[in-house]
Amino acid sequence: MKLRLKTRNDVWLFALAVSAAAALGSLGLRFLFLPPDLFLRTALPGTVVVLILAAPIAVVVGGRLRRAEGLTAQLEHALSHDPLTGLGTRARFHARVAALPPGPKVLAVADIDHFKAVNDRYGHPAGDSALWQVAQALRRNCRQGDVVARFGGEEFVILLQDVTPLQGYRAAARLCRRIREEPVVLDGQPVRITVSFGLAPLEGPDGIETAMRRADRALYRAKADGRDRACAYQPGVDDGPQPPAPAQPLPINRESNG
Ligand code: GH3
Ligand code: MG
Ligand code: MG
Repeated sequence: MKLRLKTRNDVWLFALAVSAAAALGSLGLRFLFLPPDLFLRTALPGTVVVLILAAPIAVVVGGRLRRAEGLTAQLEHALSHDPLTGLGTRARFHARVAALPPGPKVLAVADIDHFKAVNDRYGHPAGDSALWQVAQALRRNCRQGDVVARFGGEEFVILLQDVTPLQGYRAAARLCRRIREEPVVLDGQPVRITVSFGLAPLEGPDGIETAMRRADRALYRAKADGRDRACAYQPGVDDGPQPPAPAQPLPINRESNG
């Protein structure tokens, strides 16, 4: 049994339950071990004494349990969420995916294009802000049941639920377009940031590692083909050895400059 005291009411209920148990316990013990006349004479004062002692102790213990519960929740949240973007971490992503009901799913790996240039041009704090804004745009433009996580750096992973590969591709292409069309604001200036997506269907309960590897391969092709696009994994096309990714010029577009 898990004892979880989350609210003040939980603490009062806990104190009430502990006090009642203590009073009944003391009554029961006295009933068992005292002669009947002594039991009758001590029943009321004995119970009052037990309640006077047990109730405040139960309230204090309940309060401590509630505080511990709050700290545990904060710790769990800190361990499972990325502090910069608020998205789930890799560990939370895997835990959530493992708990999803069966159904067709598509895994999308998303990587911000030329993000190093954003840092170089606007500075690291502005880069952090850009990461936060892109993360919110991804979350905002995904469905409630989709799982969005930051896997590190400028890379995000999204599990699209209840979609066929074609629907998953369309969803990723839409995400790609939305991010392109909604510039982030850095130093008060609108700055266009683009993201490349690699997609692979998630097949079977243990298919996550395979899907991740395939989506990474497709992402590589999206980068090589010019970035700012979604590519779905194609057997044969994406299975060969990977040459080094080509560099692309003109990475950052200030909106005001076109
Ligand atoms: P590509 O289009 O090929 O993905 O190019 P890229 O510049 O995005 O990729 P690259 O791997 O060369 O650079 C990633 C950059 O992301 C470099 C690193 O400093 C930056 N970065 C990673 N994590 C953070 C972060 O938490 N905050 C900031 N501001 N930058 C980060
Ligand atoms: Mg990148
Ligand atoms: Mg990257």
